[in-house]
Amino acid sequence: MKVCIVGGVAGGATAAARMRRLNEQADILMFERGNYISFANCGLPYHISGTIQSREALLVQTPEAFHARYRIDVRTGNEVISIDRANKKIKIRRVATGELYEETYDKLLLSPGASPFIPPMQKDADAQLFTLRDIPDLDRIMAQLKDLPQQKALVIGGGFIGIEVAENLQERGIETHLVELGPQLLAPLDYEMASIIHSQMKSKGVRLHLGAAVKHLRQDSAELSSGETLDFGICISAVGVKPETGLAREAALSLGETGGILVDACMRTSDPDIFAVGDAVEVENSVTHRKGLVPLAGPANRQGRIAADNIMGLKSRYHDTQGTGILKVFDMTAAFTGISEKAAKRLGMNYEVIQLHPYHHASYYPGASQIHLKVLFEKVSGRLLGAQAVGTHGVDKRIDVLATAIRANLTIEDLEHLELSYAPPYGSAKDPVNVAGYIGSNIQDGLVQSITYDRISEITNHLVLNVCEPDEWKPDIPPIPNSINVPLPKLRNSLESLPKDRPLVVTCYAGLRGYLACRILSQSGFDHVYNLSGGYISYCHYIGR
Ligand code: FAD
Repeated sequence: MKVCIVGGVAGGATAAARMRRLNEQADILMFERGNYISFANCGLPYHISGTIQSREALLVQTPEAFHARYRIDVRTGNEVISIDRANKKIKIRRVATGELYEETYDKLLLSPGASPFIPPMQKDADAQLFTLRDIPDLDRIMAQLKDLPQQKALVIGGGFIGIEVAENLQERGIETHLVELGPQLLAPLDYEMASIIHSQMKSKGVRLHLGAAVKHLRQDSAELSSGETLDFGICISAVGVKPETGLAREAALSLGETGGILVDACMRTSDPDIFAVGDAVEVENSVTHRKGLVPLAGPANRQGRIAADNIMGLKSRYHDTQGTGILKVFDMTAAFTGISEKAAKRLGMNYEVIQLHPYHHASYYPGASQIHLKVLFEKVSGRLLGAQAVGTHGVDKRIDVLATAIRANLTIEDLEHLELSYAPPYGSAKDPVNVAGYIGSNIQDGLVQSITYDRISEITNHLVLNVCEPDEWKPDIPPIPNSINVPLPKLRNSLESLPKDRPLVVTCYAGLRGYLACRILSQSGFDHVYNLSGGYISYCHYIGR
């Protein structure tokens, strides 16, 4: 058995190591056109600020160590330039010399990754646009930062990498501007959740330019579509990636509808002897069952292992991708799994949303901080569809529990019954995930109707009943339109003064007292009562405050 692997980082190196563990006799050759294998792409942005001080710490494996441990024939500086499927051969170019040679294969695995997408713009000949994908990219950025003409940076793109790069430039003491074409950062989040990240970035000094694109890039300045001109000492583009499918396309392997290499659940391409994994392949979404590109390290590693299993005769299957992601934004964390409300809306799904703001551990134990949590589930069946969380502590744990719940096809009601670890420094006897289950079950059982702030205008002639204490409303934030205030303790004695012929949208600070008020009202002859999901806190996020 002779296996050739194209690409020596996440998917490729994982597959190589697994293959060796399964087969001590096989010839395994791993071709990498760069000089490094198995480096920590995900750690690259943190070297910019010095959080990861040593560049060498990013070089997780060397070709020599990988060979010593796994007896893999690692060929760095060797680019595979074509595949001859009929004769089961690949052609390789030695990058340093341009020399060409061939190797035969019994099985071929493609893990060529993705390359940065450069947005369309007018670019002067002397304008330098940096990207961050690998170690040479990082070296170029670090060299520029060493002798920066001015302590200002421009980052194009507000996704994961753009935010991480902006954070690390700002942490390095450089005035950083971030330009994002869309109306929000972090597209997998819904707007009101991303708006927490906007406030966080701004509070840390990053200048956001949302809904803007770079029209014209000059050597040290950029003209935006908004008309604004920004000066910079370095400009880094991070607007997303496109799958590296050149080799596959030229070898006439089938590509999927979204442009990635088409593979089955064994990670086998349209050629039974060629497998493909990682950023280059199209995957099925485990919630929507639609195809898409999800360039993340976890899927690439899992797929590498599964391809290796199948190449070596084990029958393992890849279980789709649910797009679970997490991001540090200074001292905050944003994470998500499954689909967003935007996506559910776009797909015409019949969903319900809950928003809550519980403390990450018992509120009486020092250091408790709020998690802003949003959970999406299917109406009627209760099947969990997605979750998003933003906060300073405990976000990772909740999203990982919810990611597991989605993977296990649990319902919103099932969340009530999860027995999660608890002691005051770590959580609450009712963990935020359990509380999401309670809220969802109340909706499913018809005990309360819930509505999100962005939809209350759909309720004709509604009145907003705010059951907060008067001093809870922030004076600098406009009150919700059409609202009156009756604090919850006074509600039972004020029922006579409330209109029964108008729908009531009830709100409090975070949603709990709103629910209590809804229960009082609906049992007192008020037929059209809605609890405002996430209360005043979510309202503030919707209006960007
Ligand atoms: P890669 O790891 O990119 O490996 C592909 C390799 O193939 C490359 O080294 C390339 O040189 C080589 N290659 C391509 N074509 C050829 C050829 N013809 N011949 C020889 N070699 C070839 N994901 C997360 O889940 N969490 C994170 O926090 C995260 N942070 C990231 C931060 C940055 C800055 C970057 C760039 C990525 C980050 N990712 C993160 C994404 C993650 O790194 C990728 O999803 C993952 O590396 C994909 O694995 P892969 O094997 O498909 O591609």
